Amino acid sequence: MKVFKFGGASVKDPNAVRNVSNILRLFDGEKRIIVISAMGKTTNALEEIAKAVHQNNPLVVKEKATFLRDFHTEILNDLFPKKENGIFETINTIFDQLEAANNQNESSFDEVYDSIVSLGEVISTHIVTAFLQTEGHSARWANATQLIRTNHKFREAEIDWRTTETLITQDFLPYFSEVDIQVTQGFIGHTSDGKTTTLGREGSDFTAGVFAYCTNAESVTIWKDVPGMLNADPKYFDDTVKLDKISFREAIELSYYGASVIHPKTIKPLQNKNIPLYVKSFIEPEKDGTTIQADATSDTLVPSFIFKMNQVLVSITPRDFSFIVEENLSDIFIRLARANAKINVMQNSALSFSILLDRDKIDISQLLGLFENTYQVTVQENLELVTIRHYDDATIQRVKGDKTVILEQKTLETARLILQ
Ligand code: ASP
Ligand code: MG
Repeated sequence: MKVFKFGGASVKDPNAVRNVSNILRLFDGEKRIIVISAMGKTTNALEEIAKAVHQNNPLVVKEKATFLRDFHTEILNDLFPKKENGIFETINTIFDQLEAANNQNESSFDEVYDSIVSLGEVISTHIVTAFLQTEGHSARWANATQLIRTNHKFREAEIDWRTTETLITQDFLPYFSEVDIQVTQGFIGHTSDGKTTTLGREGSDFTAGVFAYCTNAESVTIWKDVPGMLNADPKYFDDTVKLDKISFREAIELSYYGASVIHPKTIKPLQNKNIPLYVKSFIEPEKDGTTIQADATSDTLVPSFIFKMNQVLVSITPRDFSFIVEENLSDIFIRLARANAKINVMQNSALSFSILLDRDKIDISQLLGLFENTYQVTVQENLELVTIRHYDDATIQRVKGDKTVILEQKTLETARLILQ
């Protein structure tokens, strides 16, 4: 059994969907689980619709839903020129429901969000399955909202592994005696009382990990528009290199520091069952991508660079000049938690405690208000954070260039630089 995951970019238009079919043909005869995301930028558009539904704004709902319906209908018209396929009706019914969506029973925003935003994956998987069938693949559509069981934490739902494993074993695996391919939705699940949940943005990779874990699959392949995992984001870095092979642990470290190729939760279930993860190009599927597996011997071969822009350094000093010790540290952390601060780097000295945050995720005036009486707080904006895994002097010099180093932290394997 192989698990394949195709993200939004790999099903963004008719030719992308045809390409999925061609890739699957390379694996004819094998049993395959296909996990698919919403097409292109559909999830972002659905987020807008969810807001409008929650605010009971039917005009906006209708307008934005029509836009999405047109986007998908264009893809359908191209993939099914004879228009004889029942898929048109299936998709139109979903859009009719979406247009009529309202929040009369006054559910929380997060619950409304999940019920609306999950439709992107439902739609894309119906379209891809229908297309695969017309292309002669032996494929069926499987409903992830009857297989992936979660708790009630809408928008960030956590997997109930036991129940999910049972459901997949009883209600999903047996179909492989009838078909070779089962297509299902990434990113979505359901609660014990049948409500739809989502696993957090970009969560489809994680769904692939869940299916692989629960079916003891031989491997997972994530098909992407890049040749594999690169050692830096090409947006910020010239001459990137592909990482041919890295360990599960290294992949977790890289995603922890902000490398965004794979959803961070994906690795753990695979590591637990020692299932290799391949990241490969859907443009050049015959080429080797990146292999993520247990063996760590290749981890140090290539240094990796992770950039975070638009950082803000907040330095906190007790007004009474007391030392930074455990008592005021715990007080500082309580206040930071109240401000919902997600800390990228921290450092303390005798009299001050400094943290680095994403500027766009923090409300600075709220933060200042929370500290104002007891602490003096200074804020330095427009910084960047560079993390280098497996650094040496040359790589550090390279990222520094002529920038000023505000702070530098090193462990054996990782260097972190705050630059201005
Ligand atoms: N469609 C969802 C999102 O865009 C899940 C995913 O793509 O992984 O966040
Ligand atoms: Mg997506």
